Amino acid sequence: MNGKPHILVKGAGVAGLTAAVTLAERGGVVTLYDCADRVGAGASWMAGGMLAPWCEAESAPAEVTAQSVDSVDWWASHVPGVVREGSLVLAPARDVGELARFGRRTSHFQNVGEADIARLEPDLAGRFQKGLFFADEGHVDPRKALPALAESLARLGGRWLWPQRRPRMRRHLTGWWIAQG
Ligand SMILES: Cc1cc2nc3c(=O)[nH]c(=O)nc-3n(C[C@H](O)[C@H](O)[C@H](O)COP(=O)(O)OP(=O)(O)OC[C@H]3O[C@@H](n4cnc5c(N)ncnc54)[C@H](O)[C@@H]3O)c2cc1C
Repeated sequence: MNGKPHILVKGAGVAGLTAAVTLAERGGVVTLYDCADRVGAGASWMAGGMLAPWCEAESAPAEVTAQSVDSVDWWASHVPGVVREGSLVLAPARDVGELARFGRRTSHFQNVGEADIARLEPDLAGRFQKGLFFADEGHVDPRKALPALAESLARLGGRWLWPQRRPRMRRHLTGWWIAQG
């Protein structure tokens, strides 16, 4: 064991890959196992990739938001192509009450009007009168980010088990699960 924890992560979606890379960066000997035969076989491949902790605060518990506010920096330092152009939240005129409610439940935005919306998203010019702009947010392309994380894990010495090599597991005295691929 060389004093290093041996860790098995099950599931190679965005949650498993970020956990595996973070644990490997902190000195763990990480094995990643997925029952599918490719990176990002689950929901992560379909995701929009919005990195929007302030918008998510509309419905997320405060402790989740507190843990998420550095997410754009984390992604920018781990995968290429992170775009930091903010998030624009809009509602048609009949639903401006919903926009006000969204604003009451969130922070770190500025109110924008028709001219701002046209500048930020020219394709939407003239269609919305009011919006909220969260300038600190961004997005990432999951189809590029997941393979990049898989490469980082490999560079950090992480091991990948494919379905045909389903790990046998036993509990070690120190409490770590050991992968025996
Ligand atoms: C259309 C869409 C848009 C979205 N947009 C966003 C967005 O903009 N921003 C955002 O933050 N979130 C977004 N989400 C949510 C986000 O995609 C999910 O929260 C996230 O992908 C969940 O990741 P995960 O790794 O937990 O699960 P998954 O991506 O589902 O990965 C789970 C992995 O575990 C594997 N697995 C399952 N069971 C086992 C097992 N027993 N042993 C081994 N492996 C196993 C699966 O094969 C899979 O690869 C969106 C989701 C969808 C569907």
